[in-house]
Amino acid sequence: MPEVKQLRLSKNRTDTSNLKDFEHMPETGKIAIVTGAARGIGLEICRELLDAGMTVVAVDIRPELFEAARASLGEPGENLDCRQLDVTDSKAFTSLVDAVVERYGRVDVLVNNAGITRDGLLMRMDDADWELVLKVNLFSAFYGTRAVSRYMVRQKSGSIVNISSYSGLEGNRGQANYSASKAGLIGLTKTTAKELAGKNIRCNAVAPGFIETEMTAVLPQQAKDMALSQIPMKRMGSPRDIAKAVCFLACGASDYVTAQVLSVDGGMHT
Ligand code: NAP
Repeated sequence: MPEVKQLRLSKNRTDTSNLKDFEHMPETGKIAIVTGAARGIGLEICRELLDAGMTVVAVDIRPELFEAARASLGEPGENLDCRQLDVTDSKAFTSLVDAVVERYGRVDVLVNNAGITRDGLLMRMDDADWELVLKVNLFSAFYGTRAVSRYMVRQKSGSIVNISSYSGLEGNRGQANYSASKAGLIGLTKTTAKELAGKNIRCNAVAPGFIETEMTAVLPQQAKDMALSQIPMKRMGSPRDIAKAVCFLACGASDYVTAQVLSVDGGMHT
């Protein structure tokens, strides 16, 4: 674990050079777990949290993507601790959190980012597509939150960020499973926040709009044009747009913010 920087106050109180240095990396020593981290928004979240000074454990179902993920981060990527996990496996998720705490001594941040789509109109949607999306997008966040909260309660600190969606706030044609899972995440976020606020553990959600990743790259042009026409800012978001919001909620800068859903969608949800 990187050494936590010691803040030494100078006898001369006007000398703040040492303080400034500390302010630049106030999150140093914190341990973060990010799910679905091998690409897309999750990878960008890893970049922001590493930049903030945290040690980041990147979790994904596809370990073959880790090498490219690390390389894309440049030098900070050397410190990325990559671990394979299927987030729908409750026991494995708990074991991963236990292993992270055994290795680093604590866990400060959990970002429940792993998510999938299996779109289809409600009347034609089969049980398998309904269940899988609920399991990956929603059940996993419960498993992870329960596992980290046991340690965060002892630490009396922690921040959990769930990646919801505009579809969870508004619903979306062809996404009954996805919208339900993302709306469920909002309920989970608010309940977690209320249950754990007294222990100085915060829980918030980010609701991205239409973001340029592999998830949206597969959409037909007509669907993209339709989505773009609904965005007041007239552009798709970037993974970095989301990562910056997540980093704010994960860090001390948002110390008094909990139970909130932050829309990052170019003005779609008001
Ligand atoms: P992405 O590019 O598809 O990346 C998601 C990552 O999660 C992939 O590496 C994926 O692995 C991994 N994953 C899937 N199932 C998993 C499992 N069971 N266990 C562990 N990892 C798993 O998606 P994204 O666009 O970055 O989206 C990230 C999050 O933002 C999701 O929760 C998504 O719903 C949300 N979001 C995205 C948008 C958007 O416009 N892109 C909008 C609103 C919300 P595979 O490669 O195997 O799939």
